[in-house]
Amino acid sequence: MTSEPLRNPNVAPASATIGARIRGVLGLLCGLRKHDFRAAATWINTMYPGVSPVARIFKFLHWALRQMWCEIPNSLCATTFAPHVSKTPIWLADGNPLENHPWAAAPQASLPQRVHTVVIGAGFTGGALAYHWSRRATAEPGMQMAVLEMGEAASGSSGRNEGLVVMGRYCTMVRDTVLKHLPRVRHDLSESDHRQLALQFAVAYCRAAYRNGDLIEQTIRREGFDCDYARQGWVQARDADQQAALAESVRTALDMGLADWTSIDPDEVRRRTGMTVAHNAGFSIAAASFHPAKWVWSLLNAALRSENVEFYSRTRVLKVELVGDDYHVHTTRGVIEARYVVNAIESYTPLLHPQFHDRILPTQTQAACGEGGPAAMQPHVGISGTRGFFGRHKAHVLVGSDATRVPDREAGRIQPSRFITKFLLGEMRRYFGPSRYHVTHEWSGTVSYTPDEYPIVGVMDGCRQYIIGGMAGSGTGVSFNAARCVVNRILGQTDEPDDYPAEYFAPSRLLDPQGHPWPELER
Ligand SMILES: Cc1cc2nc3c(=O)[nH]c(=O)nc-3n(C[C@H](O)[C@H](O)[C@H](O)COP(=O)(O)OP(=O)(O)OC[C@H]3O[C@@H](n4cnc5c(N)ncnc54)[C@H](O)[C@@H]3O)c2cc1C
Repeated sequence: MTSEPLRNPNVAPASATIGARIRGVLGLLCGLRKHDFRAAATWINTMYPGVSPVARIFKFLHWALRQMWCEIPNSLCATTFAPHVSKTPIWLADGNPLENHPWAAAPQASLPQRVHTVVIGAGFTGGALAYHWSRRATAEPGMQMAVLEMGEAASGSSGRNEGLVVMGRYCTMVRDTVLKHLPRVRHDLSESDHRQLALQFAVAYCRAAYRNGDLIEQTIRREGFDCDYARQGWVQARDADQQAALAESVRTALDMGLADWTSIDPDEVRRRTGMTVAHNAGFSIAAASFHPAKWVWSLLNAALRSENVEFYSRTRVLKVELVGDDYHVHTTRGVIEARYVVNAIESYTPLLHPQFHDRILPTQTQAACGEGGPAAMQPHVGISGTRGFFGRHKAHVLVGSDATRVPDREAGRIQPSRFITKFLLGEMRRYFGPSRYHVTHEWSGTVSYTPDEYPIVGVMDGCRQYIIGGMAGSGTGVSFNAARCVVNRILGQTDEPDDYPAEYFAPSRLLDPQGHPWPELER
């Protein structure tokens, strides 16, 4: 591995020499950090279902040795790393039009003493709340919304992701995660009732997600947002042993009237993505790609053109207190009183609201980006292998993976694993063949999973404090529609459909399962 520019940019060596392999193994071992061990534990626990713990460890060691001796060195002989690989996500590398807002232009500005609604967090969710508020709230005095962000707009996961507008998770994926959890909270139901209820959860989620995808597209077109939006689907590779599950997932989705999730054959996969696979892949037809940070900035800019939305970056919320009929939102710049509060802080939630510890689980995912990469890789389409994702965005190729829980206090930290980046280079080579690649950026972000991997949207304290979270790494599949529904609820507007009924989405599902108003079983 070298940081010098490659001599022949067109030809990638087929395999590494013995010396390069030894150097590669030593480099990998010396570079191991705490997160690598956590990620290894995740791998051991998730990659070998139905295998005993001891056998899993042996399988993992076999896999790790093969990676270190063969796959990674082979891909590294065509890869260079910039002398200083930037930890700034590629989406934020060209600056932020809302940086230090409003303080940059108005250093003497101060927070309002009182607003109607405070939103905490300015990512996909906070940006969407601001946007919907600007369209739905009247311009009367007293109808102000203040969005408070401790960093910059889109500095959380929303500015660090893969850039796919997903149609949510597909139906059987949601069904199965809910099904795994239900017996822990619904002891009163039979196994077949659990299956029925899990399917209902999945259908409710997917319907809301489908509308979410369409609303995003309509909004981008109507507003003329410049965020590189293109709707060309998302291909997800599947190995031989996953073909039966893929076929069942497509059948079930169709039976439920969820037409987005289908499967395509290897020729179609290659045509759409440039990826070579031996088996059918899952395909989400209506998924799209965009520049995620530009989406957030566009939403906020549109909202800020109205009279009733204000945005304050670099303003951390320290505590939210209910005092009489109002919330006192304590921040690093003073206290704001508000009638309503909406938490749009995803993986950071347990830090502000400790009752969500073990209910909102911060989970690290990472990405790297560079120049070059496989010429065959198609732009504007979502591409997932079985263990990582890939994407071409203009001159850059993105690779990413991981879903490892981290302690609450590590929410939002940027601590990517170089081992995982190198593993992904091997995966890219596996699917696209050898190519020259120069890594310039590498970062991580935290998303949030609930124990049933099902989002929460609704009131969290029995009063007027809302939360949208637990989107399980699919924030674009939930945030925009959920924000619309929460804004409508706060404003008491009922002229639009509400896709997030309390029976499914209320936070009481996690906070108080016994008191939660579970949906009736549909027989
Ligand atoms: C590598 C990676 C790839 C991903 N790929 C995709 C993808 O392709 N498609 C997709 O849909 N999703 C993807 N995701 C997930 C997606 O990015 C998230 O689901 C989404 O960004 C969540 O948006 P959010 O606005 O709810 O949270 P965030 O973007 O995390 O925003 C929360 C904000 O709250 C602020 N905040 C936190 N605490 C406070 C406080 N106390 N006071 C004030 N502000 C606070 C934070 O600074 C942050 O800006 C990916 C994530 C990662 C990390």
